[in-house]
Amino acid sequence: MSTAINTVTGTITPDELGRTLMHEHVYVEYGGAFNDTRDLGPRRNDIMAICADSVDQIKAYDVRTVVDPTPTDLGRRAPLMADLAAKTGLNIICCTGLYSVGTYLQVREQVGGPEAVADIFIQELTEGIGQTGVKAGIIKVVTGAPAISDAERELLQVSAKASVASGAPIITHTEGILGQEQQDILHAAGVPLHNIIVGHSCISTNFNYHMHMIRAGSYLGFDRFGMEGGMPDEVRVHSLIKLLEAGCAERMMVSHDSVWYWVGGPSLGSGGYQNWKPTNFFERIIPMLQYGGVTDEQIETMLVDNPRRFFTGEEPEAIS
Ligand SMILES: [Zn+2]
Repeated sequence: MSTAINTVTGTITPDELGRTLMHEHVYVEYGGAFNDTRDLGPRRNDIMAICADSVDQIKAYDVRTVVDPTPTDLGRRAPLMADLAAKTGLNIICCTGLYSVGTYLQVREQVGGPEAVADIFIQELTEGIGQTGVKAGIIKVVTGAPAISDAERELLQVSAKASVASGAPIITHTEGILGQEQQDILHAAGVPLHNIIVGHSCISTNFNYHMHMIRAGSYLGFDRFGMEGGMPDEVRVHSLIKLLEAGCAERMMVSHDSVWYWVGGPSLGSGGYQNWKPTNFFERIIPMLQYGGVTDEQIETMLVDNPRRFFTGEEPEAIS
């Protein structure tokens, strides 16, 4: 259990988290491992300005902290995040871990096995990412569909080892399925279930799937508000209200999975991505929730209390 939380500019206490968006990306670029200090060239100033604009917008809604679960092979740039945090005063919590099993297998071969990969994760959480001096504060894990592959399972176990050794919690990527299997594998490797957020759970509309993971003890990420390509926000809101009515406010984490600067990807709020921006929860979703009977207190529980409890490592009350 830790009371000092690593942000990209140093440690903060759980009380300093404030309103927290649990899953947003500052910068995304697909590619191999060890990208943090790769030069961004003359684009860097533009990238900073675009990302600072997103920060200004969420600060207007009193967001104090953003968790950025971009592993190195999704383009993590620790120095860029540190500069952005220093410039704007936003707390940014970055991650260790790997996004693709392809990268994992390459890195595993390069460094000499799963144990050595776990050691890299632990080093990034406790000593820093390469020579950047930036420490990660959370571990990202990923599974695809339709089943968890052997390599994905091994990477989950490696990540669990780093979590147990460092005390850092875990945030997952799912395709809206297999969250229970993630819980089983991570828990069997020693991770307490309340140290896990099963991400992208809002892709599923299956109430029983959601309740199973909550009863087991984890948090659910309803973290794609505004990503309306596959599902309108109204459907996510409906699923969320159902869980809140079932007494699950203390297990829900909300966010957008927005990407503030995506090399080769869409810009925020452009074209078909009109509502995909880090203010969408405040501008459109809160009014919908309120119309559905959700209270201000429940909204603050999701934005403030849950992130604080999660990073403190405190076990939430059981939900039956
Ligand atoms: Zn994401």
